[in-house]
Amino acid sequence: MHFETKAIHVAQEPDKETGAVVPPIHLSTTFKQDEVGKHKGFEYSRTGNPTRQKLEENIASLENGKFGLAFASGSAATATLQMLLNKGDHVVCGDDVYGGTFRFFDKVMARLGVEYDFIDMSNVSNLEKAVKPNTKMIWLETPTNPLLKITDLKAVADISKQRNIITVVDNTFASPFLQNPLDFGIDIVVHSTTKYISGHSDVVGGIVVLNDDDLHEQLRFLQNAAGAVPSPFDCWLVLRGVKTLALRAERHSDNAEKIVEFLVSQQDKVERVYYPFLDSHPNSDVARRQMKRGGGMVSFEIVGGKDQAFKFLKELKLFHLAESLGGVESLSEYPPTMTHGSYSEQERLERGIRPNLIRLSVGIENVDDLIEDLKNAFSIAFQ
Ligand SMILES: *Cc1c(COP(=O)(O)O)cnc(C)c1O
Repeated sequence: MHFETKAIHVAQEPDKETGAVVPPIHLSTTFKQDEVGKHKGFEYSRTGNPTRQKLEENIASLENGKFGLAFASGSAATATLQMLLNKGDHVVCGDDVYGGTFRFFDKVMARLGVEYDFIDMSNVSNLEKAVKPNTKMIWLETPTNPLLKITDLKAVADISKQRNIITVVDNTFASPFLQNPLDFGIDIVVHSTTKYISGHSDVVGGIVVLNDDDLHEQLRFLQNAAGAVPSPFDCWLVLRGVKTLALRAERHSDNAEKIVEFLVSQQDKVERVYYPFLDSHPNSDVARRQMKRGGGMVSFEIVGGKDQAFKFLKELKLFHLAESLGGVESLSEYPPTMTHGSYSEQERLERGIRPNLIRLSVGIENVDDLIEDLKNAFSIAFQ
């Protein structure tokens, strides 16, 4: 079955009792047992819930994985994955992962005795140098936030396989429509379903997908033991959103490509554009190999500094100035003080996040209106 069909049909059969085409939401926290220990697969909703199970099966199929585990947020999924580790274990992590991921590793897990090294993953030889005898996990994002750097997934999987290291890819920025890390030999995929998967900026959630039976068993135990599970209603919202992911991801990419073209043409106003499929992107060949399209995220450096960036952002009317991404509506964002505000200026500059950087989450509106909005903001900012 193809992606578009799976998104609509996997674990979404009409309700057996009523024929309802949209499966009902199961709010019940507990499930009647026929006799002690004999039940229909559900006992208590933290441990397992029919609506959550549908979501887990559906997204697992979209990532070409055997098992899905849903969480109350992307961050809860990330935290639960770290519980696979023991004191003294070492993790090699991308140096530009989601800010909340960095915060959890650096401020919480490090305190508990897990050791982290943060490296530039877009050059895989860095990874080979960073791996140590106690390395148990490699964690990365591709494309990254906000510079949309690309890491070669197959090269990472090859390095880890020889050494028995668990590889985890946060696939939030690509979405399962554009990229399926498990296909390249990655062990675990994690998503903040808050973003492209749900796609309407109205629900917070997370999901983990994997193939390995043993890791799945450990994670199923941890999901129940730590208990950071999503509500049935939130699971249903994510399921509702994901049905249109294929259409949305194509449109996000169409619009982003046209906006990239426009930004590149504005040489007196735009210093540099970051987009995975742009020929000037240092890893555009890798991006084209492992991603179907370039996606909806675009970053660029405006000519001038922080003041110029602020003026431009203030004048945008359709691109709302807001954190987050992946919804139908276009958003703009100033990474230095918003998503990456917890880094020091020095840390930001080391990561290439300059004071004139602007990030766009390109929505699915009419692209001519979006370009008009950008044009208008440029013309006022450069008056
Ligand atoms: C938003 C995000 C997260 C965290 O997800 P929440 O649902 O906000 O907890 C993790 N990774 C990436 C890449 C994200 O964009």
